[in-house]
Amino acid sequence: MSQHDWLEKDFYKILGVSSDVSEKELTKAYRKLARRYHPDANPDDKGAEERFKEVSEAYDVLSDAKTRAEYDQIRKYGPAAGMFGGGGRGGNPFGGAGSGGGGGAGGAGFDFDSGNLSDILGGLFGAGRATRGGPGPGTGPRKGDDLEADLTLSFDEAVKGVTTSVHLTSDAACDTCHGSGAAPGTSPEICDQCHGRGVLDDNQGFFSLSQPCPRCGGRGRVVTTPCPTCRGSGIERKPRQVKVRIPAGVKTGQRIRLKGRGAPGRNGGPAGDLYVVVRVGNHELFGRKGDNLTIDVPITFAEATLGGRITVPTLDGSTVTLKIPPATPSGKTFRVKGRGVATKKSTGDLLVTVKVDVPSELSEEQRAAVEAFGAATTASPRDHLTSAG
Ligand SMILES: [Zn+2]
Ligand SMILES: [Zn+2]
Repeated sequence: MSQHDWLEKDFYKILGVSSDVSEKELTKAYRKLARRYHPDANPDDKGAEERFKEVSEAYDVLSDAKTRAEYDQIRKYGPAAGMFGGGGRGGNPFGGAGSGGGGGAGGAGFDFDSGNLSDILGGLFGAGRATRGGPGPGTGPRKGDDLEADLTLSFDEAVKGVTTSVHLTSDAACDTCHGSGAAPGTSPEICDQCHGRGVLDDNQGFFSLSQPCPRCGGRGRVVTTPCPTCRGSGIERKPRQVKVRIPAGVKTGQRIRLKGRGAPGRNGGPAGDLYVVVRVGNHELFGRKGDNLTIDVPITFAEATLGGRITVPTLDGSTVTLKIPPATPSGKTFRVKGRGVATKKSTGDLLVTVKVDVPSELSEEQRAAVEAFGAATTASPRDHLTSAG
């Protein structure tokens, strides 16, 4: 890495720190970014790989007090005289350097101290579990799969929220070996090829970390006597029960994420997430429109015409009294504030739709009254239909 290249790069910015950052903070910032962009955590992601190289390069320069001082000088005063000779860029120093690739096109000596780095990355290559079938190259820590489980709730449970359990059959840490993959009474042994570091030094390639140890697959440990239950994978498929707190106001189709409750990670990777997909049952009386509850309430012709007071049930078992004004048409909806679904964010309303009930049977007295009403009605409600012609 030439000083010319240093001039073009803001290593502090790459690491997201200020230029007066302490050594400790610098390492902290680097460690965070290195974990995020590590190739093993981002397989086949070129962008992440580039970022990881940048971050590593920046840390490489800034972590050493002497090179950091030099870098600061150059950033302040420009490179030493003669450094600009030749013109043009020296080429991308990382060109052609893939996993285990040779040196860069620009011949830049980006010397990676992988021992130091694996100390810094720590848990990334920590004691994980062996995967079935033994080690293979390129298997580092891997996040567990995300899982999905269905949960059917009653109408009331969905409105009020509930704590319940979902049942699912999925991969989980093996009960016999507690996920280590080693038979009971034994434990995974430190890999004799990489001595537990999970990586092998590759002095030709500038980026030795992208080459996990082929014997242990980057785990640093080897299972010599596999667990009989899981055959060394540390993972067993089994039914399990997961407690889940459903917030008030969920709807059918809503997915609730339970972080880290999915399938276990491999080789020390984090567990996946569990998505609970909610299905909400119907209610005899009530419906839902977002956070509003709906209900249809029959009223008589007399109530619709003359007005009146009706009693309407609410979901919590109590009732509200609703005033129907005179001349209320069938299908009109009244809003009872605050008697809908109460979520953390807001409270919905109860929407009461009145339906004028037409009796299918009439008593003598009712018939006489309706006939009298008919006889007294002189204007037709259909006048406007014929007068238009
Ligand atoms: Zn096991
Ligand atoms: Zn190894």
